[in-house]
Amino acid sequence: MRAAVLPAFDAPLAVEELELLPPGPRDVVVRARAVEVCVTDSYAVRPGPLAHPPAILGHSAAGVVEAVGSAVTAVRPGDRVVVAGTPACGACFWCDRGEGHQCREIFEGEVRHVARREDGAPVSAAGGVGTYAELLLVREFGLVRVDTTLPDEHLCLLSCGAASAMGAVFGIARVGLGHSVAVFGAGRIGSWLVQSARLAGAVRVVAVEPLADRRERVRALGATDVLDPADGDVVEQVRDLTGGRGVDAAFEAAGDAAVVVQAFSATRRGGVLVPLGMTDWAATVDLPANALAMRGREIRSCQYGNVDIRHDLPRFARVLEAGLLDPAAVVDRTYPLAEAGKALAAAADRELLTAVLLPTT
Ligand SMILES: [Zn+2]
Ligand SMILES: [Zn+2]
Repeated sequence: MRAAVLPAFDAPLAVEELELLPPGPRDVVVRARAVEVCVTDSYAVRPGPLAHPPAILGHSAAGVVEAVGSAVTAVRPGDRVVVAGTPACGACFWCDRGEGHQCREIFEGEVRHVARREDGAPVSAAGGVGTYAELLLVREFGLVRVDTTLPDEHLCLLSCGAASAMGAVFGIARVGLGHSVAVFGAGRIGSWLVQSARLAGAVRVVAVEPLADRRERVRALGATDVLDPADGDVVEQVRDLTGGRGVDAAFEAAGDAAVVVQAFSATRRGGVLVPLGMTDWAATVDLPANALAMRGREIRSCQYGNVDIRHDLPRFARVLEAGLLDPAAVVDRTYPLAEAGKALAAAADRELLTAVLLPTT
């Protein structure tokens, strides 16, 4: 099978012919149909904990079950599945406490080899998942069956962007009727945050975004106000739009530590800040100490929207099927597997909102 492999840190992706390892008792072989390209994958290219080269990149996919290990009970060959970036094991310290979003498999799991090269050299899967490939070797707990009429290129969005944002808006920040919201960064995640906040009943949704075309796109998706940081102090502008208070909930989706500080300061006293953007591992956030100590703002950290894939992804799929959120509006382009590197560069360079890989092409 073909896969887009990171041969070494900071090296270009190379499409290689690999042999998938045979499934263990609790493994599932999935034929990938569509893969959401995530900016996190571009961080995996750099030296750090997200990949162990040679590695197949990618942590999200929609596909069809091809084969199952002897002890697998949740899915059968032919089932449509979403392969999630969050493989909550169900058995570790965090999973035992209902905190599968912090599962040890995600942050401390062993390097997982899923394939071998012609010379027998093992190839790992980034994040234990590795979806830039025709065939995936996934643990049973890392996927969920979803019966849906959604096309694969939309279903795969539930394995990263759409689910992260819906989880953050509905589950983490609990945005509700009449709320005010600010979304910093109107890219792939930001677009879903804006749509989700409107669906949740937010009456004011302020999007802060330096790129003009992205501002126009989120306006069309429901942002009530769009701000260009080049036009002056965005914290002041957000406060001006909210009676001087700041918003009930702010989301940082720009992947910039300095923007986290702005998002914190644009939140009202007692409000909620949800930081979602990824940046360099060495980056730090410098918050005003007394405001942090006294003003009642909550910073709610989350991972993949803290979704419970079995409970949440099927119902999120129904929300998309019902047309309450628009996946077509955020997918700009599909790429064949051979152009995985190009797709990743386009996503990382903010040339487009969402790139989807079609590994069968
Ligand atoms: Zn992702
Ligand atoms: Zn776990």
